[in-house]
Amino acid sequence: MDPGVLYTLVYLLLCFFIIFPTTEIESFGLTVDNLCSRYLTGDNFVQYHMKLTTVKMLIHFTMPATYVGYMRLLRWLNPDDFKPHLSPMVAHFNHHGLLLAAVLLLAALAVAVAVYWAWNGWSNHPTAKHLQQFINETTMRDWRAVATNINDECRRVTKMVVRLNTLSKLVVTENWIVEIRQYGINVAHQNAAVMIVCEVNTQDVITDTIEESQFVNITVHQLHQQRQQQQRQQGTTSFKLRLNGVHYNDLRDRVRCPVHVLPSVKFQSLNDRFVEAFREVIARNGTVVPAAGPIAGDSCLACLQAQPDVKIEKRCLDVDQAGNLLPDADRCEPCHCRPHWCLSCLAVWFASRQERSEWNTWLSRKATCPMCRARFCVLDVCYLEPNVPTDADAAQR
Ligand SMILES: [Zn+2]
Ligand SMILES: [Zn+2]
Ligand SMILES: [Zn+2]
Repeated sequence: MDPGVLYTLVYLLLCFFIIFPTTEIESFGLTVDNLCSRYLTGDNFVQYHMKLTTVKMLIHFTMPATYVGYMRLLRWLNPDDFKPHLSPMVAHFNHHGLLLAAVLLLAALAVAVAVYWAWNGWSNHPTAKHLQQFINETTMRDWRAVATNINDECRRVTKMVVRLNTLSKLVVTENWIVEIRQYGINVAHQNAAVMIVCEVNTQDVITDTIEESQFVNITVHQLHQQRQQQQRQQGTTSFKLRLNGVHYNDLRDRVRCPVHVLPSVKFQSLNDRFVEAFREVIARNGTVVPAAGPIAGDSCLACLQAQPDVKIEKRCLDVDQAGNLLPDADRCEPCHCRPHWCLSCLAVWFASRQERSEWNTWLSRKATCPMCRARFCVLDVCYLEPNVPTDADAAQR
């Protein structure tokens, strides 16, 4: 391989992991956050994050310029590697001044922005401008007072910190909701904020527990009172949070501001989702008229509410997925029990007999009848024929 291409790939990989550090890299402490926390120790929460975002911005936007320097250094160190076949990429940088100028201009721009942000005690930093929205005439007269208030609360042990993803974090204190992002922070004051749960996504990610794969999308709306030309104006700003489902209840209990859940949002546990999938399969299995119907007026033995509406009736062919006949020990067995359970409860029972971590194979597994212990699969569960005669009907006749 051309050494130029190889070195470029190594550099790109390095850049990728600097921008998106994995948990392994974090555990070694090799992230920008970690290295900065060693040198910016004297700073408070807000000021520290202002400096951190500046350092990150500088590193990320000078990456192309660093690449040029890195390639030149390598060429200087091993001139023999590069001489015989000069890669077109390197040649481009050597002879095409325009690209080099653009790269250096980007780096210079990043430095200029960093200097501008730091000017006048960081008052020009986007975070300082963001905090200016919370100024009032009494307690918080400028953004520094707002920052001091946030810093004080962030120092308390009662704060809640949740990692949202590799790039962002959520901090909830008594009065503030702070989202820390790659290049800045989003802040809301709980006295004038509303959280709206807009959506719950379920993602099939590979984790130890399925519950971790549910994500809650929350929009935080912040109402601002602004004084403009002797006139009070109201405005709102908002930002979005994407929170792992396991932290949702904690967050809801912690915040003081109202949390509204849109009617379209459905929180589903693993069991809820399985019941839904189970119901879909059973609907395709057809119906059955059992030899002995449910006893009139009896409700499901598990929930004591719904009417029993399914029966285990062996219908599968005892073959595996490849179509081979199963050994005797694995075959489903006939169940002669009366219908005693409703579909949801039978589905929950079925799920409870399975290995929790192998949730994606549950539908292809088997369980035993809760009454007679006969083995059954999802193909062996049928809805009762809508007008199954009950014992009471038979007695009347
Ligand atoms: Zn039930
Ligand atoms: Zn049975
Ligand atoms: Zn079966």
